[in-house]
Amino acid sequence: MTSPLEPILRRLILENGPIDIATYMNLCLTHPEHGYYTSANHVFGRQGDFTTAPEISQLFGEMIGFWVADLWTQMGKPSSFILAELGPGRGVLMRDILRILSRVPSVMGAARVHLVEVSERRIAEQAQTLQGHDVTWHDTIDDLPIDAPLVVINNEFFDALPVRQIVKTENKIEEVVVGLSGAGRFQLGRVPCAFPGAELITGVNEISSACDTAAQLLFERIQKQTGAVLTIDYGYDAPTGQSTIQAVRGHARCEFLETPGQADLTALVDFAALKGRAKVAGLSVQGPMGQGDFLRNLGIQTRADKVCAAAVHDDQRRDILSGLYRLTDPSQMGTLFRVLCAYHGPASMKPAGFI
Ligand code: SAH
Repeated sequence: MTSPLEPILRRLILENGPIDIATYMNLCLTHPEHGYYTSANHVFGRQGDFTTAPEISQLFGEMIGFWVADLWTQMGKPSSFILAELGPGRGVLMRDILRILSRVPSVMGAARVHLVEVSERRIAEQAQTLQGHDVTWHDTIDDLPIDAPLVVINNEFFDALPVRQIVKTENKIEEVVVGLSGAGRFQLGRVPCAFPGAELITGVNEISSACDTAAQLLFERIQKQTGAVLTIDYGYDAPTGQSTIQAVRGHARCEFLETPGQADLTALVDFAALKGRAKVAGLSVQGPMGQGDFLRNLGIQTRADKVCAAAVHDDQRRDILSGLYRLTDPSQMGTLFRVLCAYHGPASMKPAGFI
């Protein structure tokens, strides 16, 4: 089946010439009618195209719930704080966080839940998952309230933001672009490009103005409002000089240029850049560290044992143990997924999980 985004992209390229990768990714993921996140019925879980940590096991969100409760205590138990999540998918992570917070009425009473999400379809799913909770949605980070400390959680949000690719070969600097072949098919090409700081780069460099803008905004907010940003994502601690773009459809890799708008496109997150931005904004930083170590430091094994002991069926016990393995083992998500926390608050504050 051809994708309805194809003629739109083709026309854009015919009229303006080849487009950069970020423009292509942006349209594929968030075109108002035909973008992947905006139009797909099922994105996450078994029925969808990929499975994220909160969709794998309740243990993930529960550990983040304990983390939030601990941070709130370290912040001096403010009577009100903004608990925000960026790109919440189906809302499962926030649901699991709130299940843990609800055991401590004082933190639950203080938390005001705000979600940042571009897609109406995803908002409808999130509203269903979070039924019974008081939740406010925003299109952009900019719209989050400014009148209280801010705790921001995000899992696989930054990797969904578009990147441009700048390539340095010998003494040439070029940008990767999407153009059309003689037969009218999408194809990758390169155009010369002026890039400030080019002497510092080697190989393929991915730059994301969407990522930079989001990070800068968040970190400035934390500096002013106090609080923390906890980022969990597929990424690297230092750039590799390689392309990290991936296209996934139906739990399998597919071609970046095929079926635009019908596959999930991601690029690994540059944690060195995020960390640098947090420091420039005057924040303290912990990490990046592997998701496996982070969750183990938070006590995921003890939590798994407890949930298993309370489980009625063997199936449940098997699910918990396989979830624990997938979330933490280095061969699974334990190492490739990185965790970073940028924060600002009382001098003694140190977010849990980082040793
Ligand atoms: N955090 C979820 C889903 C990750 S997928 C999980 O772990 O399961 C990325 C999410 O970010 C989706 O909900 C998508 O609709 C949303 N999203 C993508 N681009 C966005 C943008 N520019 N602004 C806000 N949300 C965005």
